[in-house]
Amino acid sequence: MGGDPRLLGSECPGCGALHFPRSDTCPYCGDRPSTACELPSRGTLWAWTTVHVPPPGYHGPVPYGFGVVELDGRIRVVSRLTETDAGLLRQDQAVHLVLTEVGEEDGTQMVSWAFAPSGRDRR
Ligand SMILES: [Zn+2]
Repeated sequence: MGGDPRLLGSECPGCGALHFPRSDTCPYCGDRPSTACELPSRGTLWAWTTVHVPPPGYHGPVPYGFGVVELDGRIRVVSRLTETDAGLLRQDQAVHLVLTEVGEEDGTQMVSWAFAPSGRDRR
């Protein structure tokens, strides 16, 4: 799980809006087909909570962090967070994209994305 993970979204050539997950048509203006693009891997925390009860079909560990991250001021993405203690997070905290293991299903290790507190912002 090394390297520099990126989320794949799309960008509307008409209005310039970013979408995630990737969408073939812009949900904002319905313009021409959108173009696939890599979203910024760094952003700021916009909202967050801690999930203590696993949702149906989820086999990963609980509790886990869950929130909304704003990327480059252009798009907000709903995501898992690596920090499970909501009290250690703050508004506009710098975060970056990472890959995390979220349990096993039928003998296969499941991997998902999450955002982790960055550098000196980590408390
Ligand atoms: Zn558009």
